[in-house]
Amino acid sequence: MALASMSEIFERMARNGQEFWEVVLADDMDERQVSREASMAKMLTTWQAMQDAADSYTGRKRSVSGLVGGDGMKMRQYTFRGCAMTGGYVSEVIAEALSMAESNACMRRIVAAPTAGACGVLPAVLLPLCKYEELTQHQLLEALYVAAGIGSIIAYKASIAGASGGCQAEIGTASAMAAGALVALRGGEGEQIGHAVAMALKNLMGLVCDPVAGLVEVPCVKRNVIGAVNAVSAADMALAGIESRIPVDEVIDAMGEVGRRMPVEFRETALGGLAATPTGERLKRELTAKREKQ
Ligand code: SF4
Repeated sequence: MALASMSEIFERMARNGQEFWEVVLADDMDERQVSREASMAKMLTTWQAMQDAADSYTGRKRSVSGLVGGDGMKMRQYTFRGCAMTGGYVSEVIAEALSMAESNACMRRIVAAPTAGACGVLPAVLLPLCKYEELTQHQLLEALYVAAGIGSIIAYKASIAGASGGCQAEIGTASAMAAGALVALRGGEGEQIGHAVAMALKNLMGLVCDPVAGLVEVPCVKRNVIGAVNAVSAADMALAGIESRIPVDEVIDAMGEVGRRMPVEFRETALGGLAATPTGERLKRELTAKREKQ
Protein backbone atom coordinates (compact mmCIF):
# COMPACT_ATOMS: atom_id res chain seq x y z
CA MET A 1 0.00 0.00 0.00
CA ALA A 2 1.62 3.15 -1.20
CA LEU A 3 -0.86 5.55 0.41
CA ALA A 4 -0.01 5.87 4.07
CA SER A 5 -2.08 8.85 5.16
CA MET A 6 -4.79 11.27 4.15
CA SER A 7 -2.12 14.01 4.04
CA GLU A 8 -0.30 12.01 1.40
CA ILE A 9 -3.42 11.97 -0.76
CA PHE A 10 -3.83 15.73 -0.32
CA GLU A 11 -0.16 16.25 -1.28
CA ARG A 12 -0.51 14.11 -4.40
CA MET A 13 -3.68 15.95 -5.35
CA ALA A 14 -1.83 19.26 -5.16
CA ARG A 15 1.35 17.97 -6.83
CA ASN A 16 -0.28 16.11 -9.73
CA GLY A 17 -3.42 18.20 -10.17
CA GLN A 18 -5.53 15.09 -9.50
CA GLU A 19 -8.80 14.64 -7.68
CA PHE A 20 -8.99 12.45 -4.57
CA TRP A 21 -10.45 9.49 -6.46
CA GLU A 22 -7.79 9.72 -9.18
CA VAL A 23 -5.01 9.41 -6.61
CA VAL A 24 -6.64 6.25 -5.25
CA LEU A 25 -7.18 4.88 -8.75
CA ALA A 26 -3.53 5.52 -9.67
CA ASP A 27 -2.47 3.79 -6.47
CA ASP A 28 -4.60 0.75 -7.25
CA MET A 29 -3.17 0.54 -10.78
CA ASP A 30 0.33 0.75 -9.37
CA GLU A 31 -0.28 -1.65 -6.50
CA ARG A 32 -1.97 -4.38 -8.52
CA GLN A 33 -0.18 -3.62 -11.79
CA VAL A 34 -3.42 -3.27 -13.70
CA SER A 35 -4.66 -0.85 -16.35
CA ARG A 36 -7.09 1.98 -15.62
CA GLU A 37 -9.79 0.02 -17.46
CA ALA A 38 -9.16 -3.14 -15.43
CA SER A 39 -9.24 -1.24 -12.15
CA MET A 40 -12.46 0.52 -13.05
CA ALA A 41 -14.05 -2.71 -14.31
CA LYS A 42 -13.37 -4.31 -10.93
CA MET A 43 -14.89 -1.33 -9.13
CA LEU A 44 -17.95 -1.54 -11.37
CA THR A 45 -18.35 -5.21 -10.42
CA THR A 46 -18.32 -4.15 -6.77
CA TRP A 47 -21.01 -1.53 -7.40
CA GLN A 48 -23.17 -4.02 -9.30
CA ALA A 49 -22.84 -6.53 -6.46
CA MET A 50 -24.10 -3.88 -4.00
CA GLN A 51 -27.05 -3.15 -6.28
CA ASP A 52 -27.84 -6.86 -6.71
CA ALA A 53 -27.78 -7.41 -2.95
CA ALA A 54 -30.20 -4.51 -2.45
CA ASP A 55 -32.51 -5.56 -5.29
CA SER A 56 -32.86 -9.15 -4.06
CA TYR A 57 -33.80 -8.21 -0.46
CA THR A 58 -37.36 -9.19 0.34
CA GLY A 59 -37.54 -8.98 4.13
CA ARG A 60 -38.72 -12.57 4.43
CA LYS A 61 -35.42 -14.14 5.43
CA ARG A 62 -34.35 -14.63 9.04
CA SER A 63 -30.89 -15.43 10.35
CA VAL A 64 -30.25 -19.00 11.51
CA SER A 65 -30.44 -17.81 15.11
CA GLY A 66 -33.73 -16.05 14.39
CA LEU A 67 -32.46 -12.88 16.07
CA VAL A 68 -32.54 -10.67 12.98
CA GLY A 69 -34.39 -10.29 9.70
CA GLY A 70 -37.32 -8.32 8.32
CA ASP A 71 -36.50 -4.95 9.94
CA GLY A 72 -35.44 -3.36 6.65
CA MET A 73 -38.91 -4.11 5.29
CA LYS A 74 -40.57 -2.87 8.50
CA MET A 75 -38.74 0.44 8.18
CA ARG A 76 -39.79 0.78 4.52
CA GLN A 77 -43.44 0.10 5.36
CA TYR A 78 -43.35 2.59 8.25
CA THR A 79 -41.88 5.23 5.94
CA PHE A 80 -44.40 4.39 3.22
CA ARG A 81 -47.24 5.06 5.71
CA GLY A 82 -45.80 8.56 6.15
CA CYS A 83 -44.92 7.97 9.81
CA ALA A 84 -41.16 8.47 9.70
CA MET A 85 -39.79 11.51 11.50
CA THR A 86 -36.79 11.51 9.18
CA GLY A 87 -38.54 10.84 5.86
CA GLY A 88 -37.18 11.00 2.33
CA TYR A 89 -33.53 10.18 1.78
CA VAL A 90 -32.61 9.57 5.45
CA SER A 91 -35.48 7.12 5.99
CA GLU A 92 -34.29 5.17 2.98
CA VAL A 93 -30.73 5.25 4.31
CA ILE A 94 -31.98 3.66 7.54
CA ALA A 95 -34.00 1.00 5.67
CA GLU A 96 -31.13 0.16 3.33
CA ALA A 97 -28.59 -0.13 6.16
CA LEU A 98 -30.91 -2.55 7.97
CA SER A 99 -31.63 -4.56 4.83
CA MET A 100 -28.02 -4.98 3.78
CA ALA A 101 -26.77 -5.85 7.27
CA GLU A 102 -29.63 -8.35 7.65
CA SER A 103 -28.64 -9.88 4.32
CA ASN A 104 -25.17 -10.49 5.74
CA ALA A 105 -26.62 -12.10 8.87
CA CYS A 106 -28.86 -14.25 6.65
CA MET A 107 -25.84 -15.47 4.66
CA ARG A 108 -26.79 -13.67 1.48
CA ARG A 109 -24.21 -12.20 -0.90
CA ILE A 110 -23.02 -8.75 0.14
CA VAL A 111 -19.97 -6.54 -0.41
CA ALA A 112 -17.68 -6.27 2.60
CA ALA A 113 -16.97 -2.54 2.79
CA PRO A 114 -14.68 -2.62 4.66
CA THR A 115 -15.96 -5.76 6.46
CA ALA A 116 -19.01 -8.00 6.25
CA GLY A 117 -20.28 -6.76 9.63
CA ALA A 118 -20.29 -3.18 8.37
CA CYS A 119 -21.48 -4.00 4.84
CA GLY A 120 -24.68 -1.94 5.14
CA VAL A 121 -23.18 1.50 5.69
CA LEU A 122 -21.73 2.46 2.30
CA PRO A 123 -24.54 1.10 0.10
CA ALA A 124 -27.07 2.64 2.49
CA VAL A 125 -25.88 6.15 1.70
CA LEU A 126 -25.19 5.60 -2.00
CA LEU A 127 -28.11 3.52 -3.28
CA PRO A 128 -30.96 5.80 -2.09
CA LEU A 129 -29.11 8.85 -3.42
CA CYS A 130 -29.45 7.39 -6.92
CA LYS A 131 -33.23 7.75 -6.56
CA TYR A 132 -33.04 11.39 -5.55
CA GLU A 133 -30.25 12.67 -7.80
CA GLU A 134 -29.18 12.01 -11.35
CA LEU A 135 -25.83 10.39 -10.82
CA THR A 136 -23.79 8.87 -13.60
CA GLN A 137 -22.11 5.51 -13.21
CA HIS A 138 -18.76 7.29 -13.41
CA GLN A 139 -19.64 9.57 -10.50
CA LEU A 140 -20.56 6.53 -8.40
CA LEU A 141 -17.31 4.80 -9.29
CA GLU A 142 -15.40 7.94 -8.30
CA ALA A 143 -17.20 7.90 -4.95
CA LEU A 144 -16.31 4.24 -4.47
CA TYR A 145 -12.63 5.00 -5.11
CA VAL A 146 -12.79 7.74 -2.50
CA ALA A 147 -14.34 5.28 -0.03
CA ALA A 148 -11.77 2.61 -0.88
CA GLY A 149 -8.88 5.03 -0.37
CA ILE A 150 -10.21 6.12 3.03
CA GLY A 151 -10.70 2.50 4.10
CA SER A 152 -7.18 1.52 3.02
CA ILE A 153 -5.60 4.38 4.92
CA ILE A 154 -7.52 3.60 8.11
CA ALA A 155 -6.58 -0.09 7.76
CA TYR A 156 -2.94 0.91 7.36
CA LYS A 157 -2.78 3.49 10.15
CA ALA A 158 -5.24 1.99 12.65
CA SER A 159 -7.59 -0.95 12.13
CA ILE A 160 -10.81 -1.93 10.38
CA ALA A 161 -11.54 -5.05 12.42
CA GLY A 162 -13.75 -5.29 15.49
CA ALA A 163 -11.47 -8.02 16.83
CA SER A 164 -8.50 -5.67 16.97
CA GLY A 165 -10.02 -2.20 17.37
CA GLY A 166 -13.63 -2.56 18.52
CA CYS A 167 -16.72 -1.50 16.57
CA GLN A 168 -15.30 2.01 16.16
CA ALA A 169 -12.81 0.40 13.76
CA GLU A 170 -15.45 -1.50 11.81
CA ILE A 171 -18.63 0.60 11.74
CA GLY A 172 -16.55 3.72 12.36
CA THR A 173 -14.40 3.09 9.30
CA ALA A 174 -17.41 2.23 7.14
CA SER A 175 -19.02 5.47 8.30
CA ALA A 176 -15.88 7.47 7.45
CA MET A 177 -15.73 5.84 4.00
CA ALA A 178 -19.39 6.65 3.37
CA ALA A 179 -19.01 10.24 4.59
CA GLY A 180 -16.04 10.83 2.27
CA ALA A 181 -17.87 9.24 -0.67
CA LEU A 182 -20.88 11.50 -0.13
CA VAL A 183 -18.75 14.64 -0.01
CA ALA A 184 -17.03 13.58 -3.25
CA LEU A 185 -20.38 12.90 -4.92
CA ARG A 186 -21.57 16.37 -3.98
CA GLY A 187 -18.45 17.94 -5.50
CA GLY A 188 -16.68 18.71 -2.21
CA GLU A 189 -12.99 19.56 -2.05
CA GLY A 190 -10.34 17.14 -0.80
CA GLU A 191 -10.12 19.01 2.49
CA GLN A 192 -13.86 18.65 2.99
CA ILE A 193 -13.53 14.90 2.45
CA GLY A 194 -10.89 14.92 5.18
CA HIS A 195 -13.13 16.84 7.58
CA ALA A 196 -16.07 14.48 6.90
CA VAL A 197 -13.88 11.45 7.57
CA ALA A 198 -12.54 13.00 10.77
CA MET A 199 -16.00 13.92 12.06
CA ALA A 200 -17.51 10.53 11.21
CA LEU A 201 -14.70 8.71 13.03
CA LYS A 202 -14.72 11.05 16.02
CA ASN A 203 -18.45 10.58 16.53
CA LEU A 204 -18.09 6.81 16.84
CA MET A 205 -14.78 6.73 18.71
CA GLY A 206 -14.74 4.29 21.59
CA LEU A 207 -17.58 2.15 20.27
CA VAL A 208 -17.02 -1.38 21.55
CA CYS A 209 -17.50 -4.67 19.70
CA ASP A 210 -19.88 -6.82 21.74
CA PRO A 211 -21.83 -9.20 19.50
CA VAL A 212 -24.45 -11.20 21.39
CA ALA A 213 -23.62 -14.94 21.35
CA GLY A 214 -20.66 -14.07 19.13
CA LEU A 215 -22.95 -13.63 16.11
CA VAL A 216 -22.69 -10.65 13.77
CA GLU A 217 -26.35 -9.84 14.33
CA VAL A 218 -27.09 -8.01 17.61
CA PRO A 219 -26.16 -5.13 17.85
CA CYS A 220 -24.42 -5.23 14.46
CA VAL A 221 -27.40 -4.82 12.14
CA LYS A 222 -28.66 -1.67 13.86
CA ARG A 223 -25.14 -0.28 14.26
CA ASN A 224 -24.99 -0.15 10.47
CA VAL A 225 -27.82 2.37 10.72
CA ILE A 226 -25.94 4.68 13.06
CA GLY A 227 -22.85 4.36 10.86
CA ALA A 228 -24.85 5.39 7.79
CA VAL A 229 -26.79 8.25 9.40
CA ASN A 230 -23.61 9.49 11.06
CA ALA A 231 -21.97 9.52 7.61
CA VAL A 232 -24.77 11.65 6.17
CA SER A 233 -24.51 14.18 9.00
CA ALA A 234 -20.69 14.30 8.82
CA ALA A 235 -20.84 14.84 5.05
CA ASP A 236 -23.44 17.57 5.39
CA MET A 237 -21.42 19.30 8.11
CA ALA A 238 -18.27 19.19 5.98
CA LEU A 239 -20.09 20.48 2.90
CA ALA A 240 -21.56 23.30 5.02
CA GLY A 241 -18.01 24.39 5.79
CA ILE A 242 -17.80 22.92 9.30
CA GLU A 243 -14.30 21.69 10.11
CA SER A 244 -12.85 19.09 12.44
CA ARG A 245 -10.57 20.84 14.92
CA ILE A 246 -8.40 17.71 15.07
CA PRO A 247 -6.76 16.91 11.69
CA VAL A 248 -8.01 13.74 10.06
CA ASP A 249 -4.75 11.77 10.27
CA GLU A 250 -4.53 12.53 14.00
CA VAL A 251 -8.12 11.34 14.44
CA ILE A 252 -7.28 8.07 12.69
CA ASP A 253 -4.21 7.63 14.90
CA ALA A 254 -6.29 8.33 18.02
CA MET A 255 -8.88 5.75 16.95
CA GLY A 256 -6.08 3.23 16.49
CA GLU A 257 -4.73 3.98 19.95
CA VAL A 258 -8.17 3.66 21.56
CA GLY A 259 -8.57 0.31 19.80
CA ARG A 260 -5.20 -1.01 20.96
CA ARG A 261 -5.97 -0.04 24.57
CA MET A 262 -9.52 -1.41 24.48
CA PRO A 263 -10.01 -4.33 26.91
CA VAL A 264 -10.20 -7.70 25.20
CA GLU A 265 -13.81 -8.10 26.43
CA PHE A 266 -14.81 -5.36 23.98
CA ARG A 267 -13.04 -6.72 20.92
CA GLU A 268 -15.39 -9.30 19.39
CA THR A 269 -14.91 -11.85 22.15
CA ALA A 270 -18.57 -11.58 23.22
CA LEU A 271 -17.41 -11.31 26.85
CA GLY A 272 -18.51 -7.75 27.56
CA GLY A 273 -20.97 -5.00 26.73
CA LEU A 274 -24.32 -6.14 25.33
CA ALA A 275 -23.08 -9.73 24.99
CA ALA A 276 -22.60 -9.87 28.77
CA THR A 277 -26.01 -8.48 29.75
CA PRO A 278 -28.47 -10.93 31.39
CA THR A 279 -30.47 -11.06 28.14
CA GLY A 280 -27.35 -11.42 26.02
CA GLU A 281 -26.21 -14.35 28.20
CA ARG A 282 -29.68 -15.93 28.08
CA LEU A 283 -29.84 -15.69 24.29
CA LYS A 284 -26.41 -17.29 24.09
CA ARG A 285 -27.53 -20.20 26.32
CA GLU A 286 -30.71 -20.69 24.31
CA LEU A 287 -28.89 -20.65 20.98
CA THR A 288 -26.26 -23.09 22.26
CA ALA A 289 -28.98 -25.48 23.50
CA LYS A 290 -30.79 -25.20 20.16
CA ARG A 291 -27.58 -26.01 18.26
CA GLU A 292 -26.88 -29.02 20.49
CA LYS A 293 -30.35 -30.46 19.80
CA GLN A 294 -29.87 -30.25 16.01
S1 SF4 B 1 -20.31 -5.14 17.18
FE1 SF4 B 1 -18.43 -6.12 16.43
S2 SF4 B 1 -19.13 -7.74 15.04
FE2 SF4 B 1 -20.83 -6.27 15.31
S3 SF4 B 1 -20.62 -4.76 13.63
FE3 SF4 B 1 -19.55 -3.93 15.42
S4 SF4 B 1 -17.41 -4.63 15.11
FE4 SF4 B 1 -18.68 -5.90 13.77
